Amino acid sequence: MFELKDKPRSENSLLRGKVAIITGARRGMGKSHALKLAKAGAKIVVSDISLEECQKVVKEIEKGGGKALAVKCDVTKREQVDEMVKKTIKKFGRIDILVNNAGICQFKPFLELTEEDWDKTLDINLKGYFLCAQAAAKEMAKQKSGVIVNIASIAMGQVGVGFPNLTHYSASKGGIVGMTEALAVELAPYNIRVNAVAPGVIETPMVDPLKSDPKTMEATLARIPLHRMGRTEEVSNLVLFLASDTSSYMTGSTVVIDGGWLAT
Ligand code: NAP
Repeated sequence: MFELKDKPRSENSLLRGKVAIITGARRGMGKSHALKLAKAGAKIVVSDISLEECQKVVKEIEKGGGKALAVKCDVTKREQVDEMVKKTIKKFGRIDILVNNAGICQFKPFLELTEEDWDKTLDINLKGYFLCAQAAAKEMAKQKSGVIVNIASIAMGQVGVGFPNLTHYSASKGGIVGMTEALAVELAPYNIRVNAVAPGVIETPMVDPLKSDPKTMEATLARIPLHRMGRTEEVSNLVLFLASDTSSYMTGSTVVIDGGWLAT
């Protein structure tokens, strides 16, 4: 029965007692997810290549009364990923949430793409997600609970729009969606949910090259019905939803957040 006096659970307590690892969290969307999940009560492992930068985010979380740990981790290196998981368990005792977010986006015409470009993008954007998901899922499987949120992109394929100069990036993001679906099925018996988020153009340092070219920027905005870039906070709201029990019946889904781009 619905009664108005039953207060809805505050967003600030949605993740109370949970422990979340966010990769690529020194800036951009990763930092925003770290702050959002911390506000919701989770203890956060802020992980990225630069420890110093991670420590700045940790300070910000601690200043607001949250708990966090900075961990240097290049997601392409298995030893560093394993070390990140070890440090998380040592400090906080468990892993409830992994946000696979670390990524790069290099705009380059396909005919000029080198093998090194391809390998670098696939290594960070896809192999990195595999290594982190596997290391975290091993802990989650022991607990018989966990949530993985993989950050894909609308450049993931099968959406009716191709993205020129992003062949390698698109291949990596499509791979993430396939991985998300396979993992959702395989990890369901361990009560681990796996979903993906596919953002459109979000205002972070990653889109600086786009912003520095007014013509391309104008053409991009013209394709977005809401006619603006997304804010990191808007994506973090979705990540919080997928990371929390509010989405308890969702697994294997890829949720688009793009200001309407793919609806056009
Ligand atoms: P960002 O501001 O460039 O942040 C990405 C972070 O990942 C950076 O701090 C980066 O560190 C880090 N990183 C790169 N390689 C790494 C590695 N090997 N190990 C650990 N960390 C690494 O980009 P963002 O826009 O927030 O992107 C976050 C995620 O959203 C990415 O997966 C991206 O593909 C996805 N996405 C972004 C958009 C968008 O419009 N912004 C749209 C769709 C999807 P360095 O700076 O040192 O390289």
